[in-house]
Amino acid sequence: MGRVALITGGSRGIGRAIALHLGASGHRVAVNYHTRAEAAEETVTALTAAGGTGLAVPGDVGDGDAVTEMFATVTTELGPVEILVNNAGITADDLLLRMTPEAWSSVIQTNLTSAYLCTKAALRGMVKAKWGRIISVTSVSGISGNAGQANYAAAKAGLIGFTKSVAKEVGSRGITVNAVAPGFVATEMTDALGEEARRAVLPLISLGRFGTPAEIASVVGYLASDQASYVTGQVLVVDGGLGF
Ligand code: NAP
Repeated sequence: MGRVALITGGSRGIGRAIALHLGASGHRVAVNYHTRAEAAEETVTALTAAGGTGLAVPGDVGDGDAVTEMFATVTTELGPVEILVNNAGITADDLLLRMTPEAWSSVIQTNLTSAYLCTKAALRGMVKAKWGRIISVTSVSGISGNAGQANYAAAKAGLIGFTKSVAKEVGSRGITVNAVAPGFVATEMTDALGEEARRAVLPLISLGRFGTPAEIASVVGYLASDQASYVTGQVLVVDGGLGF
């Protein structure tokens, strides 16, 4: 059955693949973006070319007013959000001793506060409908930690605690709340690591390669589906067998 799905940061990378996957599953998909309107429109074009329904919606997910406006637009254009994917994320890596307050707070705001803002905005309608799916994209960095990513790992670990807590709050309302923790996935985020760093981590991955955005999207698609109706408060690690 087609539902209304909102993917934050759906313009490119993992979010784009999630948008395409949910569109192909028959859902009406709102593709949120922050700065790259063209990429979001391209995702919507690809989604509609495959027979789906999509809508590009701007908004900085770390900004409360922008989130309110984004939810109002999606509700008017597509209907109340039934599947929320908190995917938008940034990195601002540095060793802690060199990490600026700006690098700390921007990553916490975009990667963690955004989930508070968007989930709260989505929950009211879900509680009313007695059905909902919240899926947050965390990271193996939030489970194992990663040198140079104290801000990012703190935000991603925070998302895990957030997921488990909200799952307990809304389970009785027919709403499931889960997280997916990717390892290394080939996107612009990991392109920024540089060729040498990317090659250095390959021996640590059992499958010997980075994942594709589609391989994360299929797990998000499972959690959004009726097949996952008894799964909540969980973190599904999708890392190709990564041993730090
Ligand atoms: P990406 O290619 O850099 O794409 C990031 C997406 O987030 C873009 O759509 C971007 O929108 C959006 N975004 C950034 N800041 C935003 C804001 N303030 N408001 C709204 N949207 C915003 O990243 P990715 O690799 O696909 O990562 C997606 C998620 O997976 C992130 O949460 C990331 O932490 C997580 N993750 C990634 C990996 C990996 O290896 N790639 C591993 C583990 C976890 P614009 O296009 O408008 O800038």
